[in-house]
Amino acid sequence: MTGINVGSKMQNNDSLKKLRAELLSPSLSLSYNDPIHVVRAKAQYLFDQNGTKYLDGINNIQHVGHCHPRIANAAFKQLKVLNTNTRYLDYTILEYSRALTKKLPDKLNVCFFTNSGSESNDLALRLARFKNQSQDTIVLDGAYHGHLTSLIEISPYKYKGVGGSPPPAYVHEIPMPDQFRGKYRGKDSSYHYLNELGKKLSAIKKNKQKPTFIFESFMGCGGQIPLPSDFIKEASALIHQYGGICIADEIQIGFGRIGKNFWGFEYHDLEPDIVTVGKSMGNGHPLSAVITTKEIADHFNNGMEYFNSFGGNPVSSTIGHEVLKIIKDEDLQKNAKNVGSYLKKMLIDLQKNYSLIGDIRGEGLFLGLEIVNSNGLLEPMGKIAKYIVNEMKKRRVLLSTDGPDENVIKIKPPIIFNKQNADFLLENLRLVIAKI
Ligand code: PMP
Repeated sequence: MTGINVGSKMQNNDSLKKLRAELLSPSLSLSYNDPIHVVRAKAQYLFDQNGTKYLDGINNIQHVGHCHPRIANAAFKQLKVLNTNTRYLDYTILEYSRALTKKLPDKLNVCFFTNSGSESNDLALRLARFKNQSQDTIVLDGAYHGHLTSLIEISPYKYKGVGGSPPPAYVHEIPMPDQFRGKYRGKDSSYHYLNELGKKLSAIKKNKQKPTFIFESFMGCGGQIPLPSDFIKEASALIHQYGGICIADEIQIGFGRIGKNFWGFEYHDLEPDIVTVGKSMGNGHPLSAVITTKEIADHFNNGMEYFNSFGGNPVSSTIGHEVLKIIKDEDLQKNAKNVGSYLKKMLIDLQKNYSLIGDIRGEGLFLGLEIVNSNGLLEPMGKIAKYIVNEMKKRRVLLSTDGPDENVIKIKPPIIFNKQNADFLLENLRLVIAKI
């Protein structure tokens, strides 16, 4: 230890970085070349120690806005009354489960509550694999499904990245159906991706196994890639044809973010067998869930108890329920749709003047700008994307980069983001890009 007093109010970013390096895992990253010391937040804004206000274009977890007073009040009220586990009868978890399942297709009517997206995906894998007595899992290249051991091995985003290692033989990867810069390109390319899926399914069947297929309807870490509807609809049908189970990972995209629909899978008219949710669900409180059919849940009930110390406790359930109520009361799905489509349209206008913006994609307030070389060869320009994000931060707009080549600029703000916020983002983006 350097002897820095952890308890003291430090104003200096360098000393905070030094202390962080001493006390926290070096595997944790910091955003931006010059990281921000945030001390408070409100709605769609973050404030640093000097009171500088940043427009938040990236925190998809604080879905209904940072520090929403209704959530703070509901949590405080419940914390003073009761917070225990699911081994007691309690009405809060039931009210919340009812409200949550009402937002889902009728057949998805049984909830398991967990504390992170990773935990939900791990449990979803257990449910699916146990139901089919088969480990075989199909994943899309570029996908990220969580940080647990069971999920790193089904997340090409991690196992193919720095520090990764090849997945076990029961993990089957198919190319990411990226019609802009993927293995097969163009609007008619879904057929080729389906062909690759077909080959994996035949191999799994030959081994007398059944597949579990996990996907995000709009890929987040993969680089804000909306799956082509004709691909994912047919892929889901094929999985079912082979006796498999489809898990829709809604952890980044659910709860109205995409505007047109409440869930990503609805956009493609799918009926998954298991849905996993997290992140925005608790607006920052560690709350997540797996929702599935009665059949799958009953099958899992084999005598081994499912117990989770924190999952679904009265405080978490109260917060989750309040998030749902706020989305409805403040009409936030509609806001995501209106502001998102305005922003997308304006970004497309901007793209006309700057060929380094190769692609603009996404729905609602889940958008991506892919930065490529202007020579027309679509070479990914990760360094430029990072430069843009750092310059935007200097202009008080927070964005991030992602995708296998880190060349996709992500826009996924709290869904209270308004038209003036969109204009501020656009105006600054124009100024930054014009200088490149
Ligand atoms: N699935 C997806 C699609 C995600 O984006 C993430 C987190 N980025 C996870 C799962 C894991 O969630 P958590 O970080 O809450 O464990």
